[in-house]
Amino acid sequence: MDVEQAKKILQENEIKQVLCAFADVRGYLQTFSIPARKFIEGGAFEGIGFDGSSIRGFKSINESDMVWVPDVSTLKIVPWETDPVQKTAIMFGDVYEAWGSAQSDADPRGYVAKRMEKKLADLGLSAIFGPEIEFFLFENVDPTKLIYDLWVSPNGGTGDSWGPPRVMPESPELASGGFIIRPKEGYFRPPPEDTTVTYRNELVDILEKLDVMVEYHHHEVATAGQVELDFEPKTMVDVGDAFYLYKFAAKNLAAMYGMIATFMPKPLYLDNASGMHVHQSLWEGEPFSGKNIFADPDDEYMLSQKARYYIGGLLEHAKALTALTAPTVNSYKRLVPGFEAPIYICWSPRNRSALIRVPMYHKKPSAIRAEYRGVDPSTNPYLSLPAMVAAGLDGIKKKIEPGDPIMEDVYELSPARKRELGIGELPTTLRDAIDHLATDEVIQDVLGTHIFDAFMEIKIDEWNQYCLYITPWEFMKYLDI
Ligand code: GLN
Ligand code: MG
Ligand code: MG
Ligand code: MG
Repeated sequence: MDVEQAKKILQENEIKQVLCAFADVRGYLQTFSIPARKFIEGGAFEGIGFDGSSIRGFKSINESDMVWVPDVSTLKIVPWETDPVQKTAIMFGDVYEAWGSAQSDADPRGYVAKRMEKKLADLGLSAIFGPEIEFFLFENVDPTKLIYDLWVSPNGGTGDSWGPPRVMPESPELASGGFIIRPKEGYFRPPPEDTTVTYRNELVDILEKLDVMVEYHHHEVATAGQVELDFEPKTMVDVGDAFYLYKFAAKNLAAMYGMIATFMPKPLYLDNASGMHVHQSLWEGEPFSGKNIFADPDDEYMLSQKARYYIGGLLEHAKALTALTAPTVNSYKRLVPGFEAPIYICWSPRNRSALIRVPMYHKKPSAIRAEYRGVDPSTNPYLSLPAMVAAGLDGIKKKIEPGDPIMEDVYELSPARKRELGIGELPTTLRDAIDHLATDEVIQDVLGTHIFDAFMEIKIDEWNQYCLYITPWEFMKYLDI
């Protein structure tokens, strides 16, 4: 799509507003609105200035002028805004430092993801990814009761200062329609026990109108309200964009149903968390039509030697990668035994207790891939997908063997057996993960200095905030009256 075609789409569909989209360093979708007229008649396609100093991880106040430059090919009409005044389109863009200057090194999409796609292209390669995104639907939630008020400091300050919560959070109510599915028994439940099916069907319809074609969707393992919708594989930047369209659509549709959709990894104690397993493969030449270099028909698991080295690289860098794939304090409440989330650094065909699974569904060479299970939906995909590829390429470059696949249930292995097999553990806290990122030059290199520094600063601050907070669990355990 070029500018003329984009103008035509805006005009013919009588679009009134354009949401200009990008992501901050944390991985939160950011948007501002520009009347469509500015795109149709004015010069908005050339770029729009904004204050970058209020975007987390971008630039400081003394260099805050930044420019958003649209990627015209990403223009989509927001399907649910049908009122003539509300008709909206959304478009993703890259961030530049100032007019006519270079792309900003603070922009995850333009600087990190696009740079990795270019690096792959220079090697004659491309990468495709199929994420499986899980999330929870809650109803009857008063968000003010869920949100810790960390923005109001004891002395009344605002911004990044913080203090004790004004209201204690309550447990969210399940989207159960009164019927409760027992914890961990929600998988593949049909309606009427699954009360999410109407919502899911409508979300599929919306996603497909946004060119995010759905492959599979179902109720997930956790009690009433956990769902999964997977979309067809795409290349790196496209998956990042689709991830944000997906969250945007899921949350807005939930709001229309009086529910909330949350991608917080572990909202419920002692039940399954939400993960985002990422299926990935490298291709020679064009993605989809070229050659999947992970496939070898003569191998017992259909895996090429390059695929094994790629897996070796992912395992080698897994600890540092975790800072990006599981980037929140809450992510580590997911990475515990017994909930189909990974803890041990090993690979295996078919085995869902390993960090990397090689799916054994069919033998088509195009479908051969590695599934990295250490990702959750609080990730910034413009950072974590390139980082996974960098780890894999490092494995290929250094010929890192992944070792033998682990065929046993890793959760059940004794510590002695794990030592014998040389199986390491993923970081158990955000602090642990960022400490590993701080010593991994391969992964740091993907981010570039600015984003690495900004990410570390944000995450260390997040960890320190968490450490100061005294939880209900501590009162239960230690009050000692
Ligand atoms: N929810 C699990 C996770 O956290 C995955 C469950 C599944 O898809 N089999 O990764
Ligand atoms: Mg799945
Ligand atoms: Mg799942
Ligand atoms: Mg999976």
